[in-house]
Amino acid sequence: MGAPATRIGILGGGQLGLMLAEAAPDLGVTCAALDAQGADAPASRVVDVTAGDVSRREDVVRFGSDFDVVTIEVERVSAAGMRDLEARGVVVHPSARVVETIQDKGTQKAWLAASGFPTSAFATYPDAAGLREAVAAGVRPIPFVQKARREGYDGRGVVVVREEADLAGLLDVPCVAEDLVAIATEVAVVVARGRGGAHATFDPVEMVFRPGANILDVLVCPARIPDALAAASRRLAVRVAEAIDIVGVLAVEMFVDTDGELWVNELAPRPHNSGHHTIEACTTSQYGQHLRAISGLPLGATEPRRSAVLVNVLGAPGIARGTPRYLGRDAVEAMPGVHLHLYGKRVTWSMRKMGHVTIVDDDVNRALATAVEVRNTLRVASDP
Ligand code: ADP
Repeated sequence: MGAPATRIGILGGGQLGLMLAEAAPDLGVTCAALDAQGADAPASRVVDVTAGDVSRREDVVRFGSDFDVVTIEVERVSAAGMRDLEARGVVVHPSARVVETIQDKGTQKAWLAASGFPTSAFATYPDAAGLREAVAAGVRPIPFVQKARREGYDGRGVVVVREEADLAGLLDVPCVAEDLVAIATEVAVVVARGRGGAHATFDPVEMVFRPGANILDVLVCPARIPDALAAASRRLAVRVAEAIDIVGVLAVEMFVDTDGELWVNELAPRPHNSGHHTIEACTTSQYGQHLRAISGLPLGATEPRRSAVLVNVLGAPGIARGTPRYLGRDAVEAMPGVHLHLYGKRVTWSMRKMGHVTIVDDDVNRALATAVEVRNTLRVASDP
């Protein structure tokens, strides 16, 4: 008889929870999730999802008490509830302390700066008026980037202020305003840290954004940056993971500036959009790696088997709320190296993230060409 399977409770049952749960059977661990959408949550296609609010302390405690390990797939969870679970002896990874530090961009930036990591200079403000006053007083010069301290403000969390006129569009929420970095490339490294302190990094990925909207357009792995910079980005990610003392995966988003210097943009203490491609492209996926790390299993090999490009599947711009219809799906699935992941969301709207497509290829340029074809072919329409 082997040891009983580790039972893992996931706070959140969205697409990241779904992909975490999909990685569980191979590892001999079991999962369940907590999500306000209950049986309608994406993860409910593969595991039991309890209906409840991950940001409510009581819901987190009630759900989490039954598991060997509790983890998260979103940041807007009740850290107080996670602390209560820790006090009851439940193993919680990432810990309540790590989540608390990261879930608020103000405390996250303060921690990065105090720990000596390169991150753009910033200050926090209670609201738009406070930030406007600082601008008027010449304390906060333009240009800058305003970021809501916490997620969930109508999905609008970042405003770039390049000129005075942009001040009209400030978010009226507790916020951070930081210096603009002269970005040459945006990269991310997913690093995993096990319970015993072992660590492993995935190859850095390059994030390419559609000009205008801050929405990821394609993601290229490995990033097209010099080897020395790639190695430096991995080292930086490991140093951050060790300094914050996380168990599980940590996504470290970075900027490479026009002088070739690395800056930490932001952290995510969970599987991340920049690691989806690891399902097809790497020996161990970020999801399997996270479950390994938090349940005390050895970390898996992270080397890529092939290059990968990722394209998000978004509700077509301007469509009305409705039932999704995937136009061009058959043609896309017939393309070489293409893996379509649909998250099973029952409702779509303009720009809602409905899934992603990973294209794997031995040749990154061919993968990119296929990605462009995918983007031109697949369209998410909505039916009333
Ligand atoms: P989100 O939580 O939406 O991912 P980010 O902090 O990653 O927010 O910011 C979104 C995008 O805004 C970044 O990917 C980058 O393109 C731009 N951005 C954020 N911070 C800065 C900065 N300090 N300088 C220049 N651009 C920035």
